[in-house]
Amino acid sequence: MPLLEISGLKTYYYVDVGVIKAVNDVDLVLNKGECLGIAGESGCGKSTLALSILRLIKPPGRIVGGKILFKDVDLLSLKMEEMRKIRWHKIAMVFQGAMNALNPVHTIRDQIVEAIVNHLDYSKTEAEKKAAALLKSVGLNSSVLRSYPHELSGGMKQRALIAMALSCDPEILIADEPTTALDVVTQAQILMLLKDLQRQRGLSIIVISHDLSILAQICDKIAIMYAGKIVEYADVETIYVKPAHPYTTALINAFPSVRGPKKPLSILAGEPPNMINLPPGCPFHPRCPSALEICCKVEPKMVQLDREHYVTCHLYGGHARKES
Ligand code: SF4
Repeated sequence: MPLLEISGLKTYYYVDVGVIKAVNDVDLVLNKGECLGIAGESGCGKSTLALSILRLIKPPGRIVGGKILFKDVDLLSLKMEEMRKIRWHKIAMVFQGAMNALNPVHTIRDQIVEAIVNHLDYSKTEAEKKAAALLKSVGLNSSVLRSYPHELSGGMKQRALIAMALSCDPEILIADEPTTALDVVTQAQILMLLKDLQRQRGLSIIVISHDLSILAQICDKIAIMYAGKIVEYADVETIYVKPAHPYTTALINAFPSVRGPKKPLSILAGEPPNMINLPPGCPFHPRCPSALEICCKVEPKMVQLDREHYVTCHLYGGHARKES
């Protein structure tokens, strides 16, 4: 049974000039102990999807449809008070922007201890012990507890944030762009840390990134998002070795390969669409090198190519054969 099962999720932002369908009919599954990557360019709906899981969408945004089942309980049906028991305790999130996510005027001890005392029935002394143990589990010395954020490197801040997110021993950790703004060596260390935590704690992880080469290093499955929809979903090997969607192929070709032979990088032409005024048909068609006539008129539906390989593209609906 999946640990988290999202079906038909729709999160829209109602702004003066129209409706932004940031997450538009998304289906996804996260199994226990699995690491799922969500990839796509900025503005394709990745972070809104993550915030929707925790029901942290603020006006003018609203979840308008779908289900988010966590162990068979629909999170969208819970009262806010019940949902607060899910956050931190069952599903925790490391938010984007490690450099600015910690409060600069409080020590790391104050911030982790506060998180523990607020969510668990711990005394301050017990919370301090747990904070030291959490820091150790993410590779930091307990002396870091005395530090202020400005005294730490970017990688140390990210580790401290991960430690804080683990303070209530959640079953799912969502990490939004966990390596952005870090140097390459620190990036690799943070990714290894997430992988170790996944193994040691049996943690299920959702990692969001615009960089597919990052996800390749730690994920079991990858979902590619474009214009608020999942356009491809498969295990990491399939995504890299035989990507089916032209957008996935373009993303892979835009980043250096960490696995395969060296090859020239190619630039993905154009920009993601204006989400208030999406093009008709497939929203990727103005940028797609393989577009068919039907792509400008009819939106493709998701089809299953293999046991765990899904794609949303007319090339796989029999249209390519008809038009050739
Ligand atoms: Fe390209 Fe058409 Fe597939 Fe969209 S549906 S990705 S335009 S081939």
